[in-house]
Amino acid sequence: MTPAPRRLPEPGVGIERLFVSVGTDFHRFDRLMRWLDEWMAADADVHHVVVQRGTSVEPTTVTSVDYLQRGRLISEFQDATVVVCHGGPATILECRANGLVPIVVPREQRFSEHVNDHQVDFCERLAAHGEIQLARTKSEFFRLLDLAVERGAPEVAVDDGHAAIALGNFEDAMIDLLGTRAASTPAALAEVVELNADDEKIPVLFIGSVPRSGSSLISELLDEHPHMVNIGEMVHMWQRGVIDNDRCGCGEPFSDCDFWTKVGEVAFGGWKNISGQRMRTLQQRADRTRFVPALLTPRISRQMLISVHQYGAVVARVLAAVREVSGAPIIVDTSKHVSTALLLRQIPQIDLRVVHLIRDPRGVAHSWSKQVERPEVTGASVEMDRLHPGRIGLRWLWFNWAFSNMDRLGVPSMTIRYEDFVAAPQDSLNQMFDFGGVDPIAESLVANAEPRVLDGGHSVSGNPARLSRKPVEIRADEGWKTGLNPRMRNLVTLITKPMRRRYHYPEGG
Ligand SMILES: [Zn+2]
Repeated sequence: MTPAPRRLPEPGVGIERLFVSVGTDFHRFDRLMRWLDEWMAADADVHHVVVQRGTSVEPTTVTSVDYLQRGRLISEFQDATVVVCHGGPATILECRANGLVPIVVPREQRFSEHVNDHQVDFCERLAAHGEIQLARTKSEFFRLLDLAVERGAPEVAVDDGHAAIALGNFEDAMIDLLGTRAASTPAALAEVVELNADDEKIPVLFIGSVPRSGSSLISELLDEHPHMVNIGEMVHMWQRGVIDNDRCGCGEPFSDCDFWTKVGEVAFGGWKNISGQRMRTLQQRADRTRFVPALLTPRISRQMLISVHQYGAVVARVLAAVREVSGAPIIVDTSKHVSTALLLRQIPQIDLRVVHLIRDPRGVAHSWSKQVERPEVTGASVEMDRLHPGRIGLRWLWFNWAFSNMDRLGVPSMTIRYEDFVAAPQDSLNQMFDFGGVDPIAESLVANAEPRVLDGGHSVSGNPARLSRKPVEIRADEGWKTGLNPRMRNLVTLITKPMRRRYHYPEGG
């Protein structure tokens, strides 16, 4: 098809600074580069052009770069007088945040510019709200650029009111979109909402186990590695840390802990700027055991996906701050819950690895039947929850079933029995270091000759033992053999039979 001759625009104000961006998608967007070349070749009145082309063909009329560093990208959006971009939500929002109404060419599947046509659907909805200038064809594209040369680009004031409306429309468009196309995988989520997917991922080593299987001790030892930081049970951070002000692993109440204070500053400019209660509400919409089936289904509902996106963005912010404040590249999270692991798996900024920790179910049941005070609670005497051995047996079954299937969900995982850790602690730790992507440490963390006293780190919640400064003692707590009521012991032995044999826990223990 030969291009129709184009009427050149009347001399007008011209375009002071044109920024063209195709985003970070790995698909080529050659069509946009060719259109740009053709329009520029006709003596376009543009004073300065910056083109970020990704993997696309290089335009011939202007110089271009493949990608821009985040800081440079932000300043290009700030300085541009006219923006041309693909239909990625993050790019469009960036324009809107700078008071620009971008000229948007959505990527189309038929030209192999994307895996599907969600950008087309999304942009048509935004254009109907006046949020963007949509160009589906070359003639529309030329017309909008010519108009920009003649009259300057339409601008919107950057005020909170307008931004709120823009964001509201954006969310409506997203909800419509998610309703029409069930986005089901983490990749689909990243694609639809572009959760800063261009930033480096945060590695999280997650300990998955039935609580009271020895995870606190193991995570404290992992914390001794200079490249790992143990944050304890992230899942309880809002309630027990931000809201209840329980003691951190360092012994200080959460609000007095230097580490968590800095994390709050980096993440939110201080914890005072966000409501712990509101975060807890967000969390409860995304991270609950009852949502496990919803989080596992290949077609996650749009409501669930939005909850995951909202809460996930907050989690990612906290974890990025933890990384910055600690200086340790790998974060150890001992939340243990299945639902939390499945939630983290859905957050595009997180590189999740699971250490599946497993302990003899009779030992776990015994720990859950003991009376233990929680010394981390300030201003009251509170005991740790106790649960009936039968319920622990059931929990043991399904937790271990879930964590033994992480690989199938695409989450790298390794299994470790607490009893094997006790028998050869240093070997087990080195296996976990290796799995977490760090080098083993040469000195022994667990030499029995000179028991080590751990400093407790800054674990936000976890086993009360982490607050005592006693030397580390690694032992196979076999108290259940005599301490657990024989009827209960038989019950647990029976309930856990289907998985117990697989992990070599014989009937008699
Ligand atoms: Zn602390």
